[in-house]
Amino acid sequence: MAASQFADSGADLTLVGIEKRFPGFTAIEDLNLEIPAGSFFALLGPSGCGKTTTLRLVAGLEEPTAGRILIGGKDVTSTKPHQRPVNTVFQSYALFPHMTILENVAFGLRRRKVSDPVNRAHEALRLVELDHLAARKPQQLSGGQQQRVALARAIVNRPALLLLDEPLGALDLKLRRQMQLELKTIQEEVGLTFLHVTHDQEEAMTMADTVAVMNKGQIEQMGAPEALYELPHTAFVANFLGQSNLFTGNVVESTSTVVAVDVAGIRVAVPIARAQRHTGAVTVGVRPEKLAIHRDAPATDSGRNTLGPGRVIDVSFSGVSTQYLVAIPGAGTVVVFSQNREFGPISHVGDDVWISWNVEHSFGLADVPD
Ligand code: ATP
Repeated sequence: MAASQFADSGADLTLVGIEKRFPGFTAIEDLNLEIPAGSFFALLGPSGCGKTTTLRLVAGLEEPTAGRILIGGKDVTSTKPHQRPVNTVFQSYALFPHMTILENVAFGLRRRKVSDPVNRAHEALRLVELDHLAARKPQQLSGGQQQRVALARAIVNRPALLLLDEPLGALDLKLRRQMQLELKTIQEEVGLTFLHVTHDQEEAMTMADTVAVMNKGQIEQMGAPEALYELPHTAFVANFLGQSNLFTGNVVESTSTVVAVDVAGIRVAVPIARAQRHTGAVTVGVRPEKLAIHRDAPATDSGRNTLGPGRVIDVSFSGVSTQYLVAIPGAGTVVVFSQNREFGPISHVGDDVWISWNVEHSFGLADVPD
């Protein structure tokens, strides 16, 4: 494989104070980003949060109302799209049906009069493991294979920055999962900078080194996937990256190590380093898989938070784990994912139970949801 010819050609991307206003609507507000060269960066957020607009701004298809865009340290804010070292892969990959796969990939190179287009197209096809199908027409390939051709076409002229706008959205779930891993491997091999846009949290977390969670035209939180999942700062991020249990309460004590919160008359602790707010009304969160379920009140332990008794209102057994819904007076309905250590659920609908979790797994949010 000729991956070395691709390597080390990525560029960093910096967005400074980007704003994009459409008539009567602000799509992006004061967006600041620094994406290191050669990284796989995901912009994650719900429909309409401004992901595609951000990509279009970077590609030069939209002009920002304010702010600057730098690629490889060079200000490209006023540079024409075709003069930016950028290529985009869209969800609809529109290959030319009358051309072979090889010709599809070589097309852009020929137009730009790049030397040796055929060898370079073969090289890109080898990278996506489709060189053996180079002579076929697009309609003779599966959806996943066509998407890989689109990727080969986008990387063949070695853009410093590759923009991916929901490129796997048209594929079925199984193929999408497979392509996620392949994309990641290809990105590592070519060393280009990938900016990937998706509304699928699992996709973003599987592939990206860094994920930025977008909400209403702004970045709400940015970090490594594990860090975002383990320590979300807001209710939006906590809920967007999987299920969370959120408890609202009031701070009763704040020390150098811990914030103690009164949740429905019960004291719940959050390590100070994991608490965004240290006074007043706060929200404490914990992921469902961090909870243990008990049929008897657990012994007092300063290292664990305990809520209960509550009543099991639903049990769903899935083999690997069991999901319990437990209604706890004053605290709401709690979701527990429990690994089945014995065969079958340990509690049933109507049972009275307690839940507990390691204090270290609590997180304290910056906001109090409605
Ligand atoms: P999706 O996942 O649905 O593609 P997105 O996060 O990519 O959503 P954008 O396409 O960036 O969202 O759109 C952000 C917001 O800007 C939306 O509310 C959209 O309606 C608005 N918007 C986008 N383009 C225009 C335009 N040309 N004129 C007016 N409003 C626009």
